[in-house]
Parts: sequence; structure tokens; C-alpha cells
Amino acid sequence: MSATTSASLAIRGGPRAVRSDPGDMFKWPIVTREDEEAVLEVLRRGAMSGTEITKLFEREFADWLGAKYALACCNGTASLQAAMWACGVGAGDEVIAPTMTYWASCTSALALGAAVNFADIDPETLCIAPSDIEARIGPRTRVIVVVHYAGHPCDMDPIMEIARRRGVKVVEDVSHAHGGLYKGRRLGTIGDAAGMSLMSGKSFPAGEGGMLVTNDRLIYERAVAYGHYERTGVASNFNVADAQVTEPELLRYAGITLSGAKHRINQLASAMGRVQLRHYPARMAEIQKAMNRFWDLLEGVPGIRPHRPAAGSGSTMAGWYFARGIYHGEELGGISCAKFCEAVRAEGVPMCFPGANKPLHVHPVFHTADLFRMGRPTVLSFGQRDVRQGPGTLSAAERIDEIAFGVPWFKHDRPDIIAEYAAAYRKVAEGAGELR
Ligand SMILES: *Cc1c(COP(=O)(O)O)cnc(C)c1O
Repeated sequence: MSATTSASLAIRGGPRAVRSDPGDMFKWPIVTREDEEAVLEVLRRGAMSGTEITKLFEREFADWLGAKYALACCNGTASLQAAMWACGVGAGDEVIAPTMTYWASCTSALALGAAVNFADIDPETLCIAPSDIEARIGPRTRVIVVVHYAGHPCDMDPIMEIARRRGVKVVEDVSHAHGGLYKGRRLGTIGDAAGMSLMSGKSFPAGEGGMLVTNDRLIYERAVAYGHYERTGVASNFNVADAQVTEPELLRYAGITLSGAKHRINQLASAMGRVQLRHYPARMAEIQKAMNRFWDLLEGVPGIRPHRPAAGSGSTMAGWYFARGIYHGEELGGISCAKFCEAVRAEGVPMCFPGANKPLHVHPVFHTADLFRMGRPTVLSFGQRDVRQGPGTLSAAERIDEIAFGVPWFKHDRPDIIAEYAAAYRKVAEGAGELR
């Protein structure tokens, strides 16, 4: 590709780097006749609230990941809450979670009466920093939530070592990284349990839905009892009874969920999920080729780095959901990430914005919200230590607007178009002098 380095940035009146119509490069989810037929079959049978299609989906999903059990839920948030409860989180307990994530990774802790002790991120992976976990473990810490953030696998080896040694369980939030690998192992099968979103914007889209995955029979049964009344062996007047619960302690409560909530997925989503799963490995491989092509074109460009594991590490970015780049403004004479992104957008890249999620540790929900109407913050309502942290405490995550930026999420490997987008980033990085 030809780099344009002279005074020609689009923001200063030069020609835009991106000129081609992207067509369906960014269209997601990919829905075909096959999805339509599968959904219509359920719709025409009136089987939306059954579980027979859902169970096929669960079996196929578990086999794909190489996990023993998969339990479909109405959304990812529910799957994560069930996973936390099944891993032993209760009132007065603590959960460790990265501050840089979507809120649903950890708000379930509050719903269970637990507090969240937020950890900082590693500024290169944007995932929980393994070095910021152990000191946060206290006598009431039950679970470490890890999020394979923006598709990047967490460094699971040190995390699992700490968790095992300290007797704490690990819940993986795989909502950004379905199908990704950590040193050759599927994400979601390394911790004690995993929860993940299947909503339409995620890299694995099933309409709306969530999936809990585990190799632990007891965790699976607890998750069933927590949100899936019709699978506890007692029939309602609507569903056929089927027994996926065998634990005597759980069987005592068969027929009513222990959460009081109902986690069943709509089978229209399960039907779509089954079709999506058949195509997902090929679609994921295509996205990987496209995204790696984009970043390979930017190899050696100052100021910007790919957000991906090293080649040959056996770790992968799965479907590159919420694709980011890592910014090193010091290599561009201190140009702010916001200024850099503004110039890239002017080149014709509308998704180039600084940052990612907003750090959660400063959000009022984790400081003052009183969910149980006990007259004090929920994070202090059940005898917890005060683990609240204000601004200035988690320095990498708080600088997120300076260290990360958005890049195009290509769904197809079309070299000519990808080269135009890469040229936009290269042009701004190499012409950053014009921005000063
Ligand atoms: C989307 C998402 C969730 C929540 O999933 P829903 O299906 O929207 O309930 C949880 N964690 C992360 C990291 C997410 O991105």
C-alpha cells in the first residue's frame, strides 16, 4: 500500500483515505434464509416457550466449546447472575471484577447482596490485570469475574493459579469472545463457569439470549434450579417436566426458581442460534483474516498497536467484537487520542472514537445505590468491608480514553477495502505533525 505522508490530512482539507462504499463489510448479524426457516418453523408450531430446540442448541454449543454443560438463558446478564450464584456468591460476599467492562459483568453481585472489588486492567490487553487480583482477595471473596475484553483473552494461567491457591472460583464473561482461544483452550472452559451474551450485536448473535457453560455438574444444577423451574423435575401446567436436577438440596425446591426470576430463552432465539452456530466457525475465520490483514498493514506505524495476542501464542481474538487499537500518543508528539481519532474519522472511518466502556468503579451504583431499601448502600448492607474506590484509584482504566480507540470491525476479508481503512490510520499517524 502507498502511504501518504505529506501535508494531506483530510481534517486539513486533503483527500479522504477511504473512498469506496463498504457495502456489507460491517453488516451484522448475517441472517439468511436458513435462519428465517428455522425461526419460522418454531413460530408456526407455536413452540416459542418450549425447550426441545433449546436443548439441541445447548448440546451443540457445549460440544463446540468442548464443555460438559451448556444452559441457555434469556440473556447474558441472567447467565452471569446464575453463574455467580451457582459459584457461591451470596449476601455479604465479595466479587472481584475488572472495572473496564460492560456493567452486566458484575452488577449481578449487587443483586445477590454482594459487593464488587474492582481491579485495574492491563493497558495492552485491556483485560483484568492478573497482578491486581490477589491483594483484593478477602475472607468473603467468592468469585473472580474475568472478561475477555473486546475479544482479547485474559491471561488465565496466573489468574487460575491465584484462584485455586486462594480457594476462589472464576467466572468467565465470554460476551466479547465466543470461540476464542487462550493457549489453545476455548475461552469459557478454563474457569469454573462462564456466562455470555448472545444478543444481536455480539460476535455470536442469536437475537437475544445468553449461555452458561461449565464442566461442573453441581454448578450446572444450581444454575438450573436458580432460573429454570421446568427443568427441576416438576411439571407446570404448561411445560413437560424433565429432570436435570439431582442434588437433594435443590430437589426440595423443584418447580419454583430459587432466584424468583425466570431465565428461559425464547426458542425463536435458540433456533437462530443453532443456525448461527453452524456458520460461526467460518464467519469467525473470515473476520480473523480480515482483522489480521488490517493490523498487518499497520505493522510498524508509530503511535498505534494492534489489540491482539502475539502470533504463535495459541491465543486468538475470536470474532473481534468491539475491535479496539492501543494508542501510544507519546510516539506522535503527545497528540491526544481524541485528536487522533477525529483526524481518522475525517479520513472516512466513522467508528474511530477514543476509549471503550466507562470505568465502573466510579459509577454511583457501586457507591450509593440501595437496592434492598435498607437505608444504606447495597455494597455495605450485609456486613461487607468497604471496598468502594473513587477516582484516581485504578489508573490504567481511568486513562482508557488515552489508551484505546475504535477500529473497523470487518466481517469480510476484502483486501482493497481493508487497505483503504488501514491507509486512513497510517496517514494520520505518519502525518500527526500536522495536528500539533
Ligand atoms: C453484552 C454483555 C453482557 C450482557 O449480555 P446481555 O445479553 O445484553 O444481557 C455482559 N457482559 C458483557 C461484557 C457484555 O458485553
